[in-house]
Amino acid sequence: MIIPKANRLTDEQLQEIINITREFNINIQVIRGTNRSIYAMIGDERHELLFNRIEGLDYVDRVDTIQSPYKLMDKDNELKAHQIKIGGKTIGQGNFRVIAGQCTIDPANPGLFHETAAAVKEAGVDMLRGGVWKPRTLPHSFQGDPKSLDILIEAKQKTGLPVVTEVMDADQLKLAVEAGVDILQVGARNALNYGLLKQIGDMVQHHPNVAVLLKRSIHMGKMDELIAAGEYIVSYGNPNILLCPRGTLPTMDGYRNHPDESITPLLKEKTWAPVIVDPSHSVGKALYVPRVCLAATAYGADGLIIECHIQPKQGIGDDPKQAVTPDVLKDIIKNTREVHKTAQYYN
Ligand code: PEP
Ligand code: MN
Repeated sequence: MIIPKANRLTDEQLQEIINITREFNINIQVIRGTNRSIYAMIGDERHELLFNRIEGLDYVDRVDTIQSPYKLMDKDNELKAHQIKIGGKTIGQGNFRVIAGQCTIDPANPGLFHETAAAVKEAGVDMLRGGVWKPRTLPHSFQGDPKSLDILIEAKQKTGLPVVTEVMDADQLKLAVEAGVDILQVGARNALNYGLLKQIGDMVQHHPNVAVLLKRSIHMGKMDELIAAGEYIVSYGNPNILLCPRGTLPTMDGYRNHPDESITPLLKEKTWAPVIVDPSHSVGKALYVPRVCLAATAYGADGLIIECHIQPKQGIGDDPKQAVTPDVLKDIIKNTREVHKTAQYYN
């Protein structure tokens, strides 16, 4: 990883470095942080001669060879000062953010989504979620509808809230980014889809204000696998990455998945990326959601993504069983903000 003396290399300096690394079959990936850019060497970078030649350039401060397997996500990386800002609001670095909205937008009932959007705004959320394309266990279940993207963007315009939605392939990714989605969700089923992670990293580097909410896969083992999945996205050019524990394979009777908000302090010890916990998919029942929100916040989460519906019983997808009402959401926001303040004591 090349750290220049100035905050960014000039085009001529970058070209000079590319000319050198090309001789060693190494590509340079530019990662634009808010304050400075860093230049990752992609390929086998263990060439002493290469290091010497780059370190010899008078505009280069140093070449970092971070020993961690995830060089870019590592806590001690230069990107730790990078601010992830969505709709003018920084996520993490002391700023607690709540994202809420429907699991699934019902294209037959756009009015309900607009009502939910207005209600979550009123409850005090920072961002709005709404599922357009849905990963479903069975092909017979409702798969989402591209028409819902228009509904989501209309709600963004009406409420002024930044929006989050899941994408599962390159076509959806392109449509979502071009429509103005602020945060792309990579869901639990696709968090190990390295092809998609590369496409997202590559696509969003041309849209520097777009962020990625990367869920922990149901099938991931140790947390290193989640950080490594984030490494794919950053190494393809986008450092706006949010890590999202959402429960792993179910082990407790009664919970939809195995709650894993307790992974938060471990993630925060290893990586600079903010952690946004999803309590809804973790326990899978609206009744349990407020307590998981408190626990996740006490564990040091930088925010929450919560399924919320103005009338859960009329919802589709996960909403009838998982979505909390806007009133409950309002209390969650009030109480977690208090817990977040207390939890700061241990930072
Ligand atoms: C969702 O957010 O509605 C969803 C399907 O999430 P996950 O990928 O965590 O199951
Ligand atoms: Mn859902």
